[in-house]
Amino acid sequence: MIPYGRQDISQDDIDAVVNVLRSDFLTQGPVVPLFEKTVSGYCGAKHAVAVNSATSALHIACLALGVGKGDVVWTTPITFVASANCALYCGAEADFVDIDPRTYNMSVERLAEKLAEAEKAGRLPRVVIPVHLCGQSCDMAGIHALSRQYGFKIIEDASHAIGGRYHDEPIGNCRYSDITVFSFHPVKIITTGEGGMALTNDGQLAKRMRLLRSHGITVEAADMHARAAEEIWNYQQTDLGFNYRMTDIHAALGLSQMKRLDEFVTRRHALAKRYDEALSNLPLVTPWQHPDGYSSYHLYVVRLKPDKIERTHREIYEELRAAGILVNLHYIPVYRQPYYEAKGFNASYCPQAEQYYSEVLSLPLYPLLSGEQIDYIIDSLESILFTKQI
Ligand SMILES: *Cc1c(COP(=O)(O)O)cnc(C)c1O
Repeated sequence: MIPYGRQDISQDDIDAVVNVLRSDFLTQGPVVPLFEKTVSGYCGAKHAVAVNSATSALHIACLALGVGKGDVVWTTPITFVASANCALYCGAEADFVDIDPRTYNMSVERLAEKLAEAEKAGRLPRVVIPVHLCGQSCDMAGIHALSRQYGFKIIEDASHAIGGRYHDEPIGNCRYSDITVFSFHPVKIITTGEGGMALTNDGQLAKRMRLLRSHGITVEAADMHARAAEEIWNYQQTDLGFNYRMTDIHAALGLSQMKRLDEFVTRRHALAKRYDEALSNLPLVTPWQHPDGYSSYHLYVVRLKPDKIERTHREIYEELRAAGILVNLHYIPVYRQPYYEAKGFNASYCPQAEQYYSEVLSLPLYPLLSGEQIDYIIDSLESILFTKQI
């Protein structure tokens, strides 16, 4: 079986985890801040807050930006559900901006149109969450310019994109956003098992996210509420937070993986190039790369050309899986999920997203994918595309 993505764990990674297991602190020790410092340093952001998943990071990022009841948060329909769910956790609503047909990221033109309409209706979003699909950056300069005009905040969901670049700077530096979120799930670029991180250049936002990841409890005397001296102990709960902390065990794995981040992305590019070349003569659209960016290549998404293929999307998906190639579909438009459909979204809400959804497959792509495996995938795909239904 060839999965669509998987981790690459070295002996150094294992040793780093074992060292923490033998140390004094399994959690709330020195490794989490070291991991945070390493990632914020790599990305060129001032602050980083490590948490137990990107989902948690998106939640506290929304809360830190003041998302609450009565607010609307906009994201792309072509993303993992967590990019939209974070709004609902805060009591806000989620809405969706259609995608660009070339990059498959949120379309800045559709965003501009939707903002103009929302302004008239008095329903502007508080936060917009662009998602760097497959590791390719959104048009952040364009989205940022619109945020200035309409006054919304920006959270980059860069769950796919650590190690990627935009305008020759690292994704995660928050030049065009308030907060950037990474995921360290094992299929992503680097892993901590489960884990995530929120980066920002705003000290107040960082402080607020740190508070929210640990029950809303502060240990800083300066942040404590005034009380009679005999009532002040070593901590106070000043807000309602969560236990979203990352452990030192997880952070040790992440810190060790950071050493190979660039190597992982380079390897992903080499494999993507091999696919690009081998698939160029097939009735497929291979991933178009915007010249403004350098993708981390979390995913290699191909788009079928249905008018040139006699098999259906479903048949190709099932036959590849039957051949042991665990292709996937990233993603079903979020508003198509039964939970969102029940909120009144209909199946034709975003036409470009619908078209994309009906034509795409993610081929396996991860650093340990071997030359033989990639050849097998290419050969299988070719023979399935050109086999006629009997
Ligand atoms: C993986 C992913 C998430 C959620 O990440 P977790 O760390 O698993 O919570 C959020 N958004 C996108 C786009 C993702 O791919």
